[in-house]
Amino acid sequence: MPSAARLRAIDHILARTTVETPPVKDLDALWASDVFSLETMKSALPKGVFKSIQRSIKEGTKLDTSVADVVAQAMKDWATGRGALYYAHVFYPLTNLTAEKHDGFISPQGDGTAITEFTGKLLVQGEPDGSSFPNGGIRSTFEARGYTAWDVTSPAYLMETPNGVTFCIPTVFVSWTGEALDKKTPLLRSNAAMNKQAQRLLRLLGETEIAPVNSSCGAEQEYFLVDSAFTALRPDLQLAGRTLLGAPPAKGQQFDDHYFGAIPERVQVFMQDVERQLYKLGIPAKTRHNEVAPGQFEIAPYFEAANVATDHQQLTMTVLKGTAKKHGFTCLLHEKPFAGVNGSGKHVNWSIGNATQGNLLDPGHTPHKNLQFLLFCGAVIRGVHSFGPLMRAAIATASNDHRLGANEAPPAIISVYLGSQLEDVFAQIKAGNLQGSAEAALMSLGVDTLPDLNKDPGDRNRTSPFAFTGNRFEFRAVGSGQSVAGPLVVLNTILADSIQWIADQLDDQLAHGSSLEEAAFSVLKRTMDDHGAVVFGGDGYSAAWHHIAVEERGLENLPTCADALPVLQRQVIRDLFERQGVLSPLELESRFEVYAEQYILAIEVEAKLVLRMARTQVYPAVIESLNNLACSLKNQEALGITPDRSLLDPVVSLNHQLLASCTALEQVLASPPHGVVEHMRYCADTLLPHMTGIREAIDALELLVDEAIWPLPTYQEMLFMR
Ligand code: ADP
Ligand code: MG
Repeated sequence: MPSAARLRAIDHILARTTVETPPVKDLDALWASDVFSLETMKSALPKGVFKSIQRSIKEGTKLDTSVADVVAQAMKDWATGRGALYYAHVFYPLTNLTAEKHDGFISPQGDGTAITEFTGKLLVQGEPDGSSFPNGGIRSTFEARGYTAWDVTSPAYLMETPNGVTFCIPTVFVSWTGEALDKKTPLLRSNAAMNKQAQRLLRLLGETEIAPVNSSCGAEQEYFLVDSAFTALRPDLQLAGRTLLGAPPAKGQQFDDHYFGAIPERVQVFMQDVERQLYKLGIPAKTRHNEVAPGQFEIAPYFEAANVATDHQQLTMTVLKGTAKKHGFTCLLHEKPFAGVNGSGKHVNWSIGNATQGNLLDPGHTPHKNLQFLLFCGAVIRGVHSFGPLMRAAIATASNDHRLGANEAPPAIISVYLGSQLEDVFAQIKAGNLQGSAEAALMSLGVDTLPDLNKDPGDRNRTSPFAFTGNRFEFRAVGSGQSVAGPLVVLNTILADSIQWIADQLDDQLAHGSSLEEAAFSVLKRTMDDHGAVVFGGDGYSAAWHHIAVEERGLENLPTCADALPVLQRQVIRDLFERQGVLSPLELESRFEVYAEQYILAIEVEAKLVLRMARTQVYPAVIESLNNLACSLKNQEALGITPDRSLLDPVVSLNHQLLASCTALEQVLASPPHGVVEHMRYCADTLLPHMTGIREAIDALELLVDEAIWPLPTYQEMLFMR
């Protein structure tokens, strides 16, 4: 029988009824109904104004500010007609979160009356007092001006909360001197850099009509749902988003019976509610299923332009968390909420393409003949090999460190998986002898009534951090709680840089009289000679790969943030971002400072929390247990039974261990080193192992102490009850 508090939580959960949620019936009517979309604009704006806006969105031309007043008026009419009293400039600070500043549409007239008002000036530029957002020293608080500016390429929308309806305008967030303080600005810049170089390469390949090239993203989001009655009893889930303590349940995920199993009813209703809201926001949620671990689920949208997909991904996280609350769940986006249980990632599917040439990473049926594909794919390979450590840095958070390399998620070594067909094609290129590519085959299932299946020319590889999956790359090492902006910025930027290199080489060789084909294959061969070491099709989890990658291929293994974040301070990385016009050295340095500080803060908060839980929750329960056991020994003696100390002794010794580990952690916590890099190292090498020491004692005690006094909901309860 669980402790009184846990019992109350369990009773509460058993008495829960599902929250009324109408199923989505008329998708057409619902779809994007809360979005100030192109269609809405078309009917609400004069033709000339609409055309101007459309050009900015589709062709990336500079926004004509003279149309802003007209658009603002139309936006206000539409939004207030839908019940919005407030509008918000929404921006994405360096915290992975979404920030918004709300302002009323209302404007007092000085004679006691008020009208609603929204001007072009208010639409285009805002000035939130964002001084308390981390900015890594770019902006000292005494000159705290920061501006938000309308991103016309990401649609504005209505957000309904219990607080009412707010009209939300996606914006960039910059300092008064123009430095990017957010994640959107560099994303837009990286896309522009990639577009510029991709257009250049396409022109070299003989294309004359070339539409703007855009990066695309489809982000698969994994998450856990835990009943909120349990979360209320777990300070660690509330403050750190993960359990700092907890013994593994007798039954874990070994049976694989949760993966793709039937979705529990309460969760189904929750998902339906989430999807309904996402559809209204024009977010193309497409697949949903159970994940590997009990209590773990996934939602994936159809891919969109990277900038829009990124805003939509942030919204998806917001909707998941808010809707979970409504349904009595806590949605955990942490990468490793439960030790020993599969963690959560966010697979970032990424490609580039345009309206005239299509998906530039689509190999077609005969990749060996597809020069365009080979060059763009070669550029990706070169980019990942040259800047793998930067990709690792872009996914470095305290929480993702727990997942990477933990035998369930890709290792912290960045390599590329191409699939057997392409691996073979690129090996032939390297050997200077390109013959052809393996054909896609039909796969007979051996039963006449079943159709033959098309067999993909390359298999999947779940152990690779960065895998080619048919017509895109999938960056699988991204953390579930992270903004996808950072990883996309890095991918676009390293690709831009590699395409630039390739185009330079082609230019040079063409000028020396080579044919396009000769030049292309010579550049591709050189690319594979210099960078082929990053291509790996084997088991990324294996110890052998860790050895080969580092010792033989010279790839870097950066297991923790303390190893990975300093990459941002390398001169080659500064040069890369500056060369491509994505981040100035100052902007890059500020990102290093902010991310390092977040890492340190996250671990120090956890360390303090684990101490507090150990002493104020676990220790009292252990003492009570010791009292009971001692009492029972006395009674046994009184009854003349030989006293059995087999339970008491280990509890006594683990209790000593617990207290000693607490004292040790407290001591190291009191004297952090100077210097950011040293401070990160101390978190990784000193604090975390001490926290693990405490955890080991407590998790062992959990298996010995009477269940009736254990204060914390157990893994079994949190993972299996809903
Ligand atoms: P899996 O779980 O097998 O990886 P999913 O269907 O869950 O596959 O997710 C694949 C994701 O890749 C989807 O979001 C899909 O829209 C996205 N995707 C497909 N094509 C592209 C592309 N060209 N660019 C970016 N993302 C893409
Ligand atoms: Mg996937």
